[in-house]
Amino acid sequence: MRPRTKLQVQVLALSQALPDLSIDQKNWAFKNCLKHVAFRTKKALSCLDCGHVWVGPPVNKTLISRLHTTCDCPNCGVKLEIQDSRNKKKLEQRHIIIALIDVVDGFQITRFFELNSYHKAGQPVHQYLWEVVQHWFVPNGKTTIVARMAPFGYNGGFTGDLEIRPGNVSANIGYRVDKYNIYADYTYPKVKCLPVYKRNGFKTKLKNIYPYSLFTKLLTDSKVETLLKSKQYKLLSERLNSKSHLIDRYWNSIKICIRQKYFVKDAGVWLDYIELLSFFNKDLRSSKYVCPKNLHDAHNKLVAKKRQFQKLKEAEKMRKQIAEAEPSYQKEKGHFFGLVFTKGDLTIKVLESVREFMEEGDIHKHCVFTNKYYKEKDSLCFSARIKGASVETVEVSLKTMKILQSRGMQNRATSFHDRIVELVNASIPLIKKRMESIKVKSKVSKQQDMAAVA
Ligand SMILES: [Zn+2]
Repeated sequence: MRPRTKLQVQVLALSQALPDLSIDQKNWAFKNCLKHVAFRTKKALSCLDCGHVWVGPPVNKTLISRLHTTCDCPNCGVKLEIQDSRNKKKLEQRHIIIALIDVVDGFQITRFFELNSYHKAGQPVHQYLWEVVQHWFVPNGKTTIVARMAPFGYNGGFTGDLEIRPGNVSANIGYRVDKYNIYADYTYPKVKCLPVYKRNGFKTKLKNIYPYSLFTKLLTDSKVETLLKSKQYKLLSERLNSKSHLIDRYWNSIKICIRQKYFVKDAGVWLDYIELLSFFNKDLRSSKYVCPKNLHDAHNKLVAKKRQFQKLKEAEKMRKQIAEAEPSYQKEKGHFFGLVFTKGDLTIKVLESVREFMEEGDIHKHCVFTNKYYKEKDSLCFSARIKGASVETVEVSLKTMKILQSRGMQNRATSFHDRIVELVNASIPLIKKRMESIKVKSKVSKQQDMAAVA
């Protein structure tokens, strides 16, 4: 877009006069913002930085070679991470964003460079840095954007020239991401900033941060300032990203950490851990709890405790469900209890309680319990057992007196299936007999009721 306002004209002129990255800056980026890798095959190691290939300890032959995870390239001297690769020849590291923070003519500016690096075994690395976005702003004022086009968002790459882009930078909330509000994977350590930011604690040691959010919030959000001044960079990063509300919720605990000089190294895990403490009603103002020596251990313990708690809850719920369903099952199907058909080592018995439905479901991992077959009025379920061990669960229709299904482990038929079907079919008259006796009984009780009324 052509500059329209006086401000835009001024910014574009300043932008076009900016120097390119210096050799030092480029070397810093190549050294610190990329992985340095050596591919290891059966025969050799190859440095993906300079292309040098040499004979090293062979792949996976000995324990020592397996334990060897880094080496120094004998040619370029770079410390390399060893990756075992039988067929892999190439490595790409793309879209790494590096921010350069500077002051130009009273403007606070952030320049964003995209770093791309292409590696091929046996060849020197091909890599380049190019500038993609600039934020020009005055404290608490409007931000002017100079940028290339990002038709697919900034992860989709940039194209075109560095031009004035319309609009302001907006906050990234949830899935609404402003393509020009860029996340900086790295920040060049030599930083220049306006005195007002310095006064509020702006530091040079910044990584994994949205510079735009930092600059705007540093002057308006006292928690950002406090986290920055107390060097709680990981919590700061969460404050500027999506977990801002958790920083508010647990601010008292964070203040304890700051007072105790306890630096939160993994903010995601720490916040999760504090939420678990809160779940178990622990004292969130006690340093004993909020500053654990080994965060990951403490976190894992609480995760296990919560899982245990949930399991107990589920068991409790199931017990209740069974207790509630038991009387009506007894009333509905009690007339069939005691029905057992036997032939050789095969026994088929009617399920006599809701608990037995659960046990069948647990043994065979099928849905006879979870789908509440004990509530089916028109069918009757049996357990088919070989030498006492359940092999299939059988459902018989009380309307048609036919087998509806007979299933074992994970709903599959077993090698006993045919024998089971045969025995159930042969025993249908016994089930019918029970049905008849129910009808007779209910007829008698009806007559008795009528007699009582008369
Ligand atoms: Zn090398």
